[in-house]
Amino acid sequence: MSGRQFRVLISQVLNYLLDPKLCVGCGHSLQPLQYFCTGCMSLLDCVEPACKLCGLENQTTHSICPACLHQPPRWCKIIAPLIYHNFSRDLLIQLKFNENLYLANSLVSHLIKRFQLNNDYPEVLIPVPLHQNRFINRGYNQAYEIANILSRKLNIPIDAQALKRIRHTESQLGLSAHQRAKNILKAFKYESVTQYSHVAVVDDIITTGSTANEVTRTLHHAGVTKVEIWGLARVPN
Ligand SMILES: [Zn+2]
Ligand SMILES: [Zn+2]
Repeated sequence: MSGRQFRVLISQVLNYLLDPKLCVGCGHSLQPLQYFCTGCMSLLDCVEPACKLCGLENQTTHSICPACLHQPPRWCKIIAPLIYHNFSRDLLIQLKFNENLYLANSLVSHLIKRFQLNNDYPEVLIPVPLHQNRFINRGYNQAYEIANILSRKLNIPIDAQALKRIRHTESQLGLSAHQRAKNILKAFKYESVTQYSHVAVVDDIITTGSTANEVTRTLHHAGVTKVEIWGLARVPN
């Protein structure tokens, strides 16, 4: 085990037991109210400025990029602050596949202001569900872990029952946007005892938006009028 790996391991143990005192990226000590050290923070690039509909970089003076003005997505707003590359990709892969759930707390805490800027909070947070088989294999759903932390920090309830994945789908990794849309079609079912009108669907990474699109379609169909998409990172085009 290298020195860095050892420091990261110690930081994981301490973060589990205490408030984070050590950076989960490198194991170095943190300043008060920091969740990553200054060096690691400088590696966590955010999309700036971002289109409020697709979350991709938008250098125009309008809040909506030309592509979305031409063909808007189904949802009404996206918040997915990080650019999914380099260091953020490493952390999110560890969160998704290696059970490094402590990373969800550090990443959400680091990004929380981006979600607080929202002045019209949704009624509820709905994590993108995994299919039951995948959930049993993996043992957790990273989207649920992220939504749970957002829920506590923003004081918005979470509903992890209303949306279900009824069809097992192939991994979206390596598929084109068209193949992704086809793969995910009719994969979800929404049944809620509470009639929500404004929800935020929470995922870890927004890639092409095909999952978000299909979930939004499902929710609109069930009478939810305002659907926001929240994630930690946006994959650039
Ligand atoms: Zn660090
Ligand atoms: Zn856009």
